[in-house]
Amino acid sequence: MKNKECPICNKKLTMMTARIKLKKDDITVCKDCLIKAGYGTGIKDIDNISKMVTLNDISEKLKSRDVNSVSKSSSLELEQNADPSLLLKLSKSYVKNFESTLQIPDYIKYNDKTGELLLKNGPLTSWRKSNIRNVKNYEVIQNGKNLQGFGLGRAAAGALLTGGIGLLIGFTKKKEVVTELRLHIKLNSIDNPAFDIKFISTKTKTDSFTYRSSIKTLEQITNFLDAALSEQSSEINMVVNNSTPSVADELKKFKDLLDLGAINEDEYNTQKEKLLK
Ligand SMILES: [Zn+2]
Repeated sequence: MKNKECPICNKKLTMMTARIKLKKDDITVCKDCLIKAGYGTGIKDIDNISKMVTLNDISEKLKSRDVNSVSKSSSLELEQNADPSLLLKLSKSYVKNFESTLQIPDYIKYNDKTGELLLKNGPLTSWRKSNIRNVKNYEVIQNGKNLQGFGLGRAAAGALLTGGIGLLIGFTKKKEVVTELRLHIKLNSIDNPAFDIKFISTKTKTDSFTYRSSIKTLEQITNFLDAALSEQSSEINMVVNNSTPSVADELKKFKDLLDLGAINEDEYNTQKEKLLK
């Protein structure tokens, strides 16, 4: 990236900023400015915009928009229709009016009818919007390593871990010091491939209240994600089951299971051989 700030709004462009490179100008702008200028936001549009649109085009479009007509309702509309991969920062009123069927205070608001998902990086940060359909999977990271006992690994580990959360804390009875505990949510998005919810970022003992309550909240969130994601995949399976799955579909399914860690390499290869016979 040549320029470190969006030339239109001066927002800092980091690896996590939704942004797009304008090839003609060899300059990168933030995606918020593109949307404000009225350009498409879908992943399919990105390639075209990148090739065709110039910085001048964007400035002209922004100028021609009547600033006064951008009322509160249209910004609300923008939030509602925004590409979920954008993780737009949301206004207070939008969050206040959001109809959630499930809430985990300070972290998650969810509407099970629309699949809309509001997320926060932590209690003191702003709400962002995504959609459950946009969530690929997640992992819990502690001191740089995947913390076992959560999520999709849980089913496989279930035979061993019968005590759930109690056992998980039992694991760490040796009183470790944790400097990092976060939930790493992987998204189906080119611009924002992941969203992190941070629980612990300073030295914290595993027998402390902070650690225990963090684990408790993590369990709530991952239980919710497990349920929502399995509902999702059963919807997908219903569609798939209506037709005879192709070898490619079947292979994909096992590849996904492998990626999720539900089966190992050997099991995957066995299935692959069977399918390709
Ligand atoms: Zn910008």
